[in-house]
Amino acid sequence: MNRDYPLEKLRNFGIIAHIDAGKTTTSERVLYYTGSQHKIGEVHEGETTTDWMEQERERGITITAAAVTCFWTKTDEEDKKDLAKKYRFNIIDTPGHIDFTVEVKRSMRVLDGAVVVFDGVAGVEPQSETNWRYADEANVPRICFINKMDRMGASFEKSYASILDRLTKKAVRMQLPIGAESDFDGVVDLLTMKAYKFDGSMGEIVSTYEIPENLVEEAKKYRAELIEKIVENDDALMTAYLDGKEPTLEQLKETLRKAVIANQIFPVYTGSALKNRGVQLVLDAVVDYLPSPIDMPPVKGINPANGEEILRTASDTEPFTALAFKLQADPFVGQLTFFRVYSGTIEAGSYIYNSTTGTKERLGRIVRLQADQREEVKKVFAGEIAAAVGLKDTKTSHTLCDENSPIILEQIKFPEPVINLRIEPKTKADQEKMGMAMKKLADEDPTFRVTTDPETSETLIAGMGELHLEIIVDRMKREFNVEANVGKPQVAYRETILQEAEAEGKYIKQTGGKGQYGHVRLRIKPLPPLDPEKKLAKNITREDHFEFINSIKGGVVPNEFIGPVEKGVREAMERGFVAGFKMVDISVELYDGSYHDVDSSEIAFKIAASMGFQEAAQRAKAVLLEPIMKVEVVTPEKFMGDVTGSLNSKRGQIEGMEERGLARAVKAKVPLSEMFGYTTVLRSMTEGRASFTMEFDHYEVVPPNVAQTIIAARK
Ligand code: GDP
Repeated sequence: MNRDYPLEKLRNFGIIAHIDAGKTTTSERVLYYTGSQHKIGEVHEGETTTDWMEQERERGITITAAAVTCFWTKTDEEDKKDLAKKYRFNIIDTPGHIDFTVEVKRSMRVLDGAVVVFDGVAGVEPQSETNWRYADEANVPRICFINKMDRMGASFEKSYASILDRLTKKAVRMQLPIGAESDFDGVVDLLTMKAYKFDGSMGEIVSTYEIPENLVEEAKKYRAELIEKIVENDDALMTAYLDGKEPTLEQLKETLRKAVIANQIFPVYTGSALKNRGVQLVLDAVVDYLPSPIDMPPVKGINPANGEEILRTASDTEPFTALAFKLQADPFVGQLTFFRVYSGTIEAGSYIYNSTTGTKERLGRIVRLQADQREEVKKVFAGEIAAAVGLKDTKTSHTLCDENSPIILEQIKFPEPVINLRIEPKTKADQEKMGMAMKKLADEDPTFRVTTDPETSETLIAGMGELHLEIIVDRMKREFNVEANVGKPQVAYRETILQEAEAEGKYIKQTGGKGQYGHVRLRIKPLPPLDPEKKLAKNITREDHFEFINSIKGGVVPNEFIGPVEKGVREAMERGFVAGFKMVDISVELYDGSYHDVDSSEIAFKIAASMGFQEAAQRAKAVLLEPIMKVEVVTPEKFMGDVTGSLNSKRGQIEGMEERGLARAVKAKVPLSEMFGYTTVLRSMTEGRASFTMEFDHYEVVPPNVAQTIIAARK
């Protein structure tokens, strides 16, 4: 079986935006224009295809990263039915809300390009900046779409300026809006110097006409600017251009395509998704300028056998390599595992090797999600995205590959959860269901963690923010029918040590019968962040926040007790020392000890290690750590004093202030514990006119006076 679409006709892209900028509406229009959908559902009716999960509809935010497949023929193509003229789009959904950073990050891994949607009134917003940075990190080529041009107060120029100002100097206008606000009527395309209008009830009839008189001069000026930016990317064109020879339209497009793919230019388009203006031209731009999988550099991985780097290119003849990037419960077929194939092909019904876990699984059915149906797929080719039905042991970020050519792709790095809450099932029946639900949800979402409080045996769930956990609890109720009582969200404090220390742990009992004998000497040190490049010696086990070094010589602690020692240390760290929070970033070295031929046992060594660790922690200046958030408040100028005052009183460090249109933005770093309920405080302080966003930045030592209060509260 051969591929039905040549690779160069494939675009894997995402639509990213600050919440409310119009991502859902834009996606909705895309599905309509691409013909997969025949009826347009407005967001407020809860009818959209991309976010079908109930609470998303209610909240109006998208939290899933479903991939939807659709087909597009460019607007200037005469014969829209000609298969050879069609492009296949896989649109990877990304969420706008900050609590779902993980979704954005993981989708960046699997998409080749993105359309970034902006609100034409607000311009660049905090989340646009964060997403832009993630896209920068992942080198994702981008097209900008300034949406909502029909809204009162919309300004293309101001929004465009905010992109240049706050995101990148490499942005360039591709269009000019015709009319503004309620008179916004169409766009001028600067490359072709044509005006576009959109007729029909859904703006589905796209036609061109002469540029309106009043825009001709402006269009000429900005066209010259655009051409200059394009030719800068090609020496030959540049020289010719300086000699007064304008490149042809084909040359311009070709050079622009290369520049966009190389992240040298970010073309800016405009329109109104709601009023059905401009979206089709953005789709044309996706075809013209965003990369296909063959334009992408080979994907990197390591050979699990020897740690050597392996490269795989997007070719059907290379060994099969894929990344599972999203698990999603589907109301019709059960669990879906979305995966992107980087090289090779795979057929439904065959076995795949999960190199992350080292196990094999049968790939039953494969489906591709379209707007209104699930298409069965027999075979998936390099560069494609599809979903497997019924994979049980494959989790987000696992590599799937050919067992004979194993490879492990780079793992997706996820931020640490900073908030937790206690959750208690209402009945015995709920208890059983809750365990299952939690496991499923944690499998889907690596930033969601479930733990048990070692002291009270209560279940704790941890996540990225209040909203994140709220949604999880909500899903548990709806999808798994679990009724539970939940506590107040709490800061996920941690503990660490500030200096090196040594201590001895002895657990010896020799009264009658068989005794107990465990004895260790431990050295503990603060652990610097993990350097993935560095090779570790054989006697060291290392994770992100913990390292165990076995330096026992001459069997003074027999081999069989080393494991129990490590286990004892881990359990002590889990229990914490200062106030019962998990200890992190500690290197523990077992350097001496002794044993007894008869009385030594695993349990005795485990206890001795726990005791030794406690003792060492005391000497090593154990302290509390708290999450520090990056906060941005956008406020009218007259409340600036109140806003900075409130942040200062919350132990905040003000890092800067800048103009944001008519408003002011205040950037600060503030401990998370001080930010609970800030929404209400800010609202009443600013007559409801200010807003804020925050995201996790880093962990920091809690000042002693604050630490005392936390410790007292835990006792
Ligand atoms: P998302 O949060 O980014 O997915 O944004 P939505 O697509 O849900 O849009 C948020 C709100 O803005 C909704 O009420 C939309 O109807 C509205 N909206 C979206 N696009 C436009 C537009 O082009 N013009 C206007 N006036 N409103 C829009």
